[in-house]
Amino acid sequence: MNEWTREEAEKTYNISTWGEGYFDISPEGDLVVKPSPEAKSINIREVVEEMRSQGVSLPAVIRFHDILRSQVRKINQSFSEVIKEANYNGKYCGVYPVKVNQMREVVEEIVDAGEEFNFGLEAGSKPELLSVLAYNTNPEAITVLNGYKDEDYLSLALLGRQLGRKIIIVIEKFSELPKLLKLSQEYQVKPLIGLRGKMSLKSRGRWAKSTGDRAKFGLSTSEMIRAVELMEEYGLKDCIKLFHFHIGSQISDIRTFKEAITEGARVFTQLHKLGCQLEYFDAGGGLGIDYDGSRSSSDSSVNYTLNEYVADIVYGLKQICDIENVPHPNIVTESGRAITAHHSLVITNVVDKISVTQPNFDTKVNDNEHMLIKNMREMHSWVIGEDNFQEIYNEAIQIKEQTLSAFNLGVISLKDRAVIETLYWQIMEGIMNFSEMLEFVPESLSELDNKLAPQYLCNFSVFQSAADHWAIDQLLPVVPISRLNEKPDANCSIADITCDSDGIIGKFINRDGITPTMAIHHLKEDEEYLVGLFLTGAYQDVMGDMHNLFGRLHEVHVYGDNDDPQGFYIEEIIKGNTASGVLSTMQYNPEYMAQKMKKNVSKIVSEGKIPPRLGVKWVDFYEDCLTSYTYLKN
Ligand SMILES: *Cc1c(COP(=O)(O)O)cnc(C)c1O
Repeated sequence: MNEWTREEAEKTYNISTWGEGYFDISPEGDLVVKPSPEAKSINIREVVEEMRSQGVSLPAVIRFHDILRSQVRKINQSFSEVIKEANYNGKYCGVYPVKVNQMREVVEEIVDAGEEFNFGLEAGSKPELLSVLAYNTNPEAITVLNGYKDEDYLSLALLGRQLGRKIIIVIEKFSELPKLLKLSQEYQVKPLIGLRGKMSLKSRGRWAKSTGDRAKFGLSTSEMIRAVELMEEYGLKDCIKLFHFHIGSQISDIRTFKEAITEGARVFTQLHKLGCQLEYFDAGGGLGIDYDGSRSSSDSSVNYTLNEYVADIVYGLKQICDIENVPHPNIVTESGRAITAHHSLVITNVVDKISVTQPNFDTKVNDNEHMLIKNMREMHSWVIGEDNFQEIYNEAIQIKEQTLSAFNLGVISLKDRAVIETLYWQIMEGIMNFSEMLEFVPESLSELDNKLAPQYLCNFSVFQSAADHWAIDQLLPVVPISRLNEKPDANCSIADITCDSDGIIGKFINRDGITPTMAIHHLKEDEEYLVGLFLTGAYQDVMGDMHNLFGRLHEVHVYGDNDDPQGFYIEEIIKGNTASGVLSTMQYNPEYMAQKMKKNVSKIVSEGKIPPRLGVKWVDFYEDCLTSYTYLKN
């Protein structure tokens, strides 16, 4: 028996580093959620059981709203502590950029949790603006409007001003300013204006294009001066309230922030010298998440803590304002990823295993076997030892290559090839097992583990639920939600159920760094194996697409409750797409389809090809499938 402790499971999956204290392992080996330090742990397996009893099948998104609330509190408290400690004179006036997760319930929860801090919202498009107008009703909280704007967008913003809201229109492009001035005269409303600067520092990582002369957004220095002059002409210079920049998302290196704050603070104080009484300094988004738990400046990690980030902004800005004798502005940040990433996860069930090895194929000796089979058999019969494993390995690979050529020339049969390949994989497995005992594994063999690793086929679509893993190689933690008190005795990669070879997860967080396979348990007959995909709350929830017509997932919203025996309750269930739902978005008419199928079936019934009873059954079945979930039934 292998002794296996929770601590080892925790290290294998790096849970405490990426989990921010929200995830843990129970003594029974189940993954649990701790919404806050005082809260009872919530067992994810129990949430799934309760979901199921309420008719929600897998795959599903589980949202822990307490985590959202807790993240909103954390960021606000961190700023207020550092501001106090630094004797900084401004306040923190954060906003949540809704593009990161626009789900109404998510926005409502953040607004509610942020009320006591006057936490606001940010929008970057007309539809987003429509939502923040309706939801950010706190007159003390600001609303920041970014993105490209047409007259409707600007007019909606002025409507918000008329309602007494602190709505700040950030000018991304110079041409927006004359349009805004015209409209504000027309409606007789004074706007609150922000200027977005094009930052010249070199950002690092995936979003490096957000800065530099060719950045898509922001005003160049000359445009910024022209903007101030134009406002002066109109006698509205006092409407310029905010300076904004955004240097990209998931900034992994703290140095990038330091440089941005320095450049931003300089522009800010210069604008002050041009006579703009700016009230807000908006440092944008970028606060990253340690997806891989490595605490490094790699793309999926961050080399700083929340407090370090906050301190760099507060102290950096204070220093330059003090030198320049400019009053300390209120500080705005637009953190979306950091607030939402942890609160949601995707649960999927393993439906099958795809292996390269076929242990059950019959390889017994026949008369007149082809030489290639004989050769492979010989390798198979050798006892693997320190002095010959390399030779067996090389030889077996060569015979397999020759086999493929022989097969393509029509020299050997499909059956011969199957025998050779079966023997080949058995040899490779033997070598792998042997190499595990070696102190030093030659480089050529180190890949063997991954070559032999099966794929666990999971009931979900990477394109719907982990878009960034497919698009930009974003790492997301993947962890079995049970059996964590058992040593994982296998390695696998994850395949989804789309008909797309890109539909895989082949990059995992491991105690040894990033690996192409993850540690997993052997599947048991009659026991379901559930895997969680974590940190999907930022962007993944809303960027997923309908590849293969796999639609949106079922969702459950969970709240912690210390008085509940299980420590939680499901507050809301949102059903995912049905087949007819996704078909409708592609212009199909499911009712028409059902009628057409019914006619076709009636025809074969009337021709006497099938009995009426069966005909009715087929029609009902087709209609049932139309109204069912798009994923595999379980
Ligand atoms: C996307 C975006 C954000 C959010 O960035 P995160 O890194 O997710 O916090 C903030 N501000 C602007 C202008 C954005 O475009």
